[in-house]
Amino acid sequence: MAQARGYAATDASKPLQPYTFERREPNDDDIVIDIKFSGICHSDIHQARNEWGNSNYPMVPGHEIAGIVTAVGSKVTKFKVGDRAGVGCFVNSCTQCATRDVDIEQYMPGLVGTYNAFEADGVTPTYGGYSDSIVVKEGYALSIPENLALDAAAPLLCAGITLYSPLMHWKAGPGKKVAIVGMGGLGHMGVKIAHAMGADVTVLSQSLSKKEDGLKLGADHYYATSDAETFKALAGTFDLILCTVSAEIDWNAYLGLLKVDGSLVLLGIPENAVPVHAFSLVPGRKSISGSMIGSIKETQEMLDFCGKHNIVSEIELIRMDQVNEAYERVIKSDVRYRFVIDMATL
Ligand code: NAP
Ligand code: ZN
Repeated sequence: MAQARGYAATDASKPLQPYTFERREPNDDDIVIDIKFSGICHSDIHQARNEWGNSNYPMVPGHEIAGIVTAVGSKVTKFKVGDRAGVGCFVNSCTQCATRDVDIEQYMPGLVGTYNAFEADGVTPTYGGYSDSIVVKEGYALSIPENLALDAAAPLLCAGITLYSPLMHWKAGPGKKVAIVGMGGLGHMGVKIAHAMGADVTVLSQSLSKKEDGLKLGADHYYATSDAETFKALAGTFDLILCTVSAEIDWNAYLGLLKVDGSLVLLGIPENAVPVHAFSLVPGRKSISGSMIGSIKETQEMLDFCGKHNIVSEIELIRMDQVNEAYERVIKSDVRYRFVIDMATL
C-alpha cells in the first residue's frame, strides 16, 4: 500500500482538512496516476455536506481528475508511463452483465463511485481526486488529448460528459434549439459543447450578469429567468432544455418553453420532489427526464470531441488550502466557471 495525501471531509458540518490515507496496491490491470489537477463539482459539496444523505466519512471528494501516469500493471495496454490520464465519476461498474458493451454502465447497480463508495471487496473506501495520486483500473481511466491544457481539461471528466451525453442522446445539432438552464460549472460546458455540435443555444440564467460571457462561449441567445417576460417570449421554443439547477424552480413554467415533442432533462438534483402538472406535458406530448454523467466509452468520445474542437472549461485555478472558501463561492454562484485545485499546492 502507498501513502497518499489529500484533503478530506470528516463530517457534514466541518471544513475539509488535510488527510493522509492509503491507496490500494496496484493490480495487473491498474495504472497509478500522479494527480496534477482536480476540479470542484457541486456534487462534491452535496456529498461532503451529506446533502444527499448517503455520505461516508472521512471522504476525499473529487471526480474531475487529470494527471500523469506514473506506473502501469503488466496487463495494461492503453496507457504507458508519462501519458496524460483522467478519471471521472466512477472507477468500477457491474461485471455481471454486458452494459459496458451497450454504453450505459453508469445506470447499473454495481457502479463504484470514485469517492464515497467502496471497492469491489465492499470494505475498502474509494477516495477521490483531492489527493496526490490514485490507483485505477485502466478500463476506467480516460486519455486526455494532448492539445488540451490539463488544468482546464479536468472539468470535462464530470461537467463535460454530463452535458455531452444528453446532447448526443437527444440529438442536439443543426436545426435544434437547445436551452441550458444555469450557467455554472455544468451549464457553461453545455453552452460550449452544444454550440460545437451546431445547435442554436440559449442560456436561461437567473440574471443577465453573465450574458457577455455566455455569448462569448457560444450562446446565441441569453435570457434572465427572473424576468417573467422571458417565459412569454420563449413559449414553445425549444426542442431540448437541459437543467443544471439543483434549486427548486417552477418546472411547469420551463415545460411551457418546449415545442411539441420537446424534452426537459434534469441534470441538477433538487432535494425535493419535482411537481409537474399533467397539463404541462399532455397537450404537447412533452417529456421530462433525467440524465447522469456518461459511460466510459462516451466519456472518451467526448474528450476526443473536445480535443477536436479545442473545448476546455473556463477555470479559476486555486490552492488546495482554498477549497473551503471555494465551496462557499460555488454555493453563491460566484465562480467563473469551475474551480480547479492545483494539486502541486497540496
Ligand atoms: P454550479 O456550478 O453551482 O451551477 C449551478 C447553477 O445553477 C448556478 O451557476 C446558477 O446559474 C444556477 N442556480 C443556482 N442557484 C439557483 C437558484 N436558486 N435558482 C435558479 N438557478 C440557480 O453547479 P454544477 O457543478 O454545475 O452542478 C449543478 C448540479 O448538477 C448540482 O446539483 C450537481 O450535484 C449536479 N450534477 C449532476 C450530474 C449528473 O450526472 N446529472 C453531474 C454533475 C453534477 P445562474 O447563475 O446562471 O442562474
Ligand atoms: Zn460532478
